[in-house]
Amino acid sequence: LCGGTGCHASGSKSFHEALDAELKNQGLEKEVRVIETGCNGFCALGPVMLVQPEGIFYQQLKADDAAELVESHFLKGRPVQRLMYRDPVSKKTMAHMDEIPFFAHQMIWAMRNKGLIDPESIDEYIARDGYFGMAKALTEMSSEDIIGEIKASGLRGRGGAGFPTGVKWGFAAQAKSDVKYVLCNADEGDPGAFMDRSILEADPHAVLEGMIIAAKAINATQGYIYCRTEYPLAIQRLSLAIEKARDYGLLGEDILGSGFGFDVDIYQGAGAFVCGEETALMRSIEGRRGMPRPRPPFPANKGLWDKPTVLNNVETLANVGQIMLNGGQWYASVGTESSKGTKVFAISGDINNIGLVEVPMGISLRKMIYDIGGGIPNKRKFKAVQLGGPSGGCIPEKYLDTPVDYEEIAKVGAIMGSGGVIVMDEKTCMVDMARFFMDFIQEESCGKCTPCREGTRRILEILEKISEGRGEPGDIETLEELSEVIKSSSLCGLGQTAPNPVLSTLNYFRDEYYAHVYEKR
Ligand code: SF4
Repeated sequence: LCGGTGCHASGSKSFHEALDAELKNQGLEKEVRVIETGCNGFCALGPVMLVQPEGIFYQQLKADDAAELVESHFLKGRPVQRLMYRDPVSKKTMAHMDEIPFFAHQMIWAMRNKGLIDPESIDEYIARDGYFGMAKALTEMSSEDIIGEIKASGLRGRGGAGFPTGVKWGFAAQAKSDVKYVLCNADEGDPGAFMDRSILEADPHAVLEGMIIAAKAINATQGYIYCRTEYPLAIQRLSLAIEKARDYGLLGEDILGSGFGFDVDIYQGAGAFVCGEETALMRSIEGRRGMPRPRPPFPANKGLWDKPTVLNNVETLANVGQIMLNGGQWYASVGTESSKGTKVFAISGDINNIGLVEVPMGISLRKMIYDIGGGIPNKRKFKAVQLGGPSGGCIPEKYLDTPVDYEEIAKVGAIMGSGGVIVMDEKTCMVDMARFFMDFIQEESCGKCTPCREGTRRILEILEKISEGRGEPGDIETLEELSEVIKSSSLCGLGQTAPNPVLSTLNYFRDEYYAHVYEKR
């Protein structure tokens, strides 16, 4: 039974209680075990449940369905058709996940345990080869071997910038210091993004395993997971995972008798978007106000408490254990020339199949939106897709065949970002869309530097004027001028990318701005 935050919100807890009660009524409580897993991914159909070993997929379950399910499926062996997925295009009822187009086109690597294990059971993680990659790294590999394997995999940071993970680890490994740190950035803050939360809720040990391997690679002894406090379920499951890993001797001194020691603690952030920026995140852990600082020095040399530090995001780390186990070449066998492996995306907005998907790099945006996402609801037309959250940009219909690849996405004016995908239909006003993101950004600007603090506010004022029909000739040119200044003179990535939603909508949907200003539409 999906026990991710999305399914909890759509009522999986009340269904769980009703199912437990009904199984007890029928004397089946020992034969049928109900396990809450992490997010299944198809959030639009929640609450969802998979009955094993038959592999029957049920969706949109309500407490009232429990009696029929137990009677029909568990007592009489007759799966309940009306609770299965019905494909809106073929009108076929589909009983198994691999028949459903939403799942059929995905490639599940980083989220390999989602929906398959109890995230609160370390034994179930180990039974799926968990901690085997770590064991290999700690007992058979040197720091150079580990970094070499990560470089060979082509893994790039999944948090947004796409910096090569092996190169980052290599810098920190070379830094001379008796104390080093490994940090996990779980401060996911983009509107529409919930990949990291779902991975933490579904498979917390995969992230811990990645951190331990990173620690061995750079010779760090302490790690911190910086997780926003708005993710209580992720924090609860992570805390339990850390406790269990310590009990099993997988964290602490002398892990697996390898002579290497490392431990992890969770640091809860208060939800400031800027704390996803690495130097601001480190300041926040230090107990100071979360504000970016200029680089260099880079964190690989001078990071947390001025010690060499590696910071990776949740999804990046979730891939590391499998790369150690299967080798860098295995991971690099999928993807494009410069973007290897898979990427997790959170698809939302005007799209039929809202949820979490993992796809091979190189797949086209069209395939992701239509084949996996099921297209646009209410027979409306596609207008644009916002990729990369507030720091990203929107992509119009003519670029839908762009492959999911860091460089190719950048060429059409967006960024891969952490993986937020917001689809907009023909009814969306692009000026309103730019205003929404600018409102978010100016709220989240930390205020340290003037172009970002003041400039984003001025842009928002102009966008409000334009969308309320008070725009004046010259406003569009001022927007462009301000955007260029903010991009080129802000200190951190938040300010440098803040004007992207304005610039990309001006680039592709300029006529809408003109219509607002000159025709007052
Ligand atoms: Fe703060 Fe914005 Fe300057 Fe970044 S660019 S340091 S968020 S004011």
